[in-house]
Amino acid sequence: MGGALRAGSTVAFIGLGRMGLPMVRRLAAAGYNVRGYDLSEQARDELAAIAGAQAADSAQAAAAGADVVVLMLPSSAVVGAVLLDDGLLEALAAGVALIDMSSSEPLQTRALAPRAAARGVNFVDAPVSGGVRGAIAGSLTIMAGGDEEAVEACRPLLETLGTTVRHVGPVGAGHALKALNNLLSAVHLLASCEALAIGRGFGLDPHVLVETINVSTGRSASTERKLPEFILTGSYDAGFALSLMVKDIAIAVSLGEQLGIEPALGARALELWREAAGALGADADHTEIARWVDARAAAGAGR
Ligand code: NAD
Repeated sequence: MGGALRAGSTVAFIGLGRMGLPMVRRLAAAGYNVRGYDLSEQARDELAAIAGAQAADSAQAAAAGADVVVLMLPSSAVVGAVLLDDGLLEALAAGVALIDMSSSEPLQTRALAPRAAARGVNFVDAPVSGGVRGAIAGSLTIMAGGDEEAVEACRPLLETLGTTVRHVGPVGAGHALKALNNLLSAVHLLASCEALAIGRGFGLDPHVLVETINVSTGRSASTERKLPEFILTGSYDAGFALSLMVKDIAIAVSLGEQLGIEPALGARALELWREAAGALGADADHTEIARWVDARAAAGAGR
């Protein structure tokens, strides 16, 4: 087992997207030596402009000699492609920590654990909640799965990125909890947008509706933050892609199905979010679900 990952440690960071880049900025500012890689040349250029960070030409080049490899990638499919198909896992030395901070599939993460263990790699899943703003501010909630010793070794690094770092169970537990959190978040947001559409239809002032719900029992993170900041303003720029939300709901629903637990509401939410994704396109922000709900409401009202 390697030592605690503190300032001065070398971090290979793979996946420099909306979340990855601000996370790297925090690590570099805290004194970690960061070597990053992303398929996107633009992302690598942005990384190279950060003091204390260097861009590498491949994931393996970034990881050579690093103390820890952090993944912040779109999905388990991409994590598998990088670790297994591209040979990153094979290239890691014993004692290196590997932290998958992406929102990946818990059963696939569990399946990776023995392969990492066979190489002596300390594998931790540590997905996050708190969005791009949380990544910039270092105020993420981090749900870590793994051996106690491996998670504790990662704690100083994780605490640079988040204010709440919780060890939630063995490898895969973080990814399961994250998917369930986003299932709830997706259901709450969709239900909140529907309530908003019905309220508008009745003639309620949307701001009065949201402000009153936020001091009542129907409130949630969706009504407290997403409606006022990204939907009522019309900005729709939370920075979390609708396609990634659909992926997360699908992970939670499929996990339930694989465990023989039929998530009836979750399955219906998944259908609706998928329909919205088809209508809004691949680049839509997840808060644009409100636009889709409004369009559906308008079509229904005209019938
Ligand atoms: P993003 O699409 O902005 O970034 C993903 C990055 O991975 C992209 O820059 C892409 O070029 C890169 N990439 C894809 N395949 C690659 C490969 N083979 N090798 C190297 N780089 C590759 O996504 P994001 O919003 O930063 O999300 C990253 C992860 O964090 C996802 O799993 C997401 O579900 C999760 N997440 C996102 C948010 C959010 O608010 N954006 C919040 C919590 C969790």
